[in-house]
Amino acid sequence: ILSRGVNEVSDCIFCKIVSGEIPSKRLYEDDKIIVINDLNPGAPVHVLVIPKEHTENILTASPDIVTYVKSKLPELVKMLKLDEKGFRIVINTGEDGGQSVPHLHFHILGGKQLGWPPC
Ligand code: AMP
Ligand code: ZN
Repeated sequence: ILSRGVNEVSDCIFCKIVSGEIPSKRLYEDDKIIVINDLNPGAPVHVLVIPKEHTENILTASPDIVTYVKSKLPELVKMLKLDEKGFRIVINTGEDGGQSVPHLHFHILGGKQLGWPPC
């Protein structure tokens, strides 16, 4: 039986992915984060960096997890082969921000030249 994070929120889809209740292919995992492909990619490379500990969004998140994700970024974008040509990080927040899953996650997109504004 896979162990579950102490802060798992029942019915949070990303907590279920973190716990393994919903299976996923993990491109990267350590004690604080997982990285998975986005189900509906918006670019040739589109992954989600999901902190294991549940928090709703960037406002509720501890600065420590944000710092941690930043510290892993060079390694992650190299793994994704985005270190040469660049990438975009997106943190959708709340209703107007287009956040559909209320568990903090960082989108990393790349693999083509992305337009702006995004929609
Ligand atoms: P957001 O709109 O910023 O909350 O992003 C949520 C993202 O999660 C969307 O891009 C979805 O395509 C993606 N997503 C939802 N369910 C899954 C899943 N089971 N596995 C991978 N990605 C998912
Ligand atoms: Zn969660």
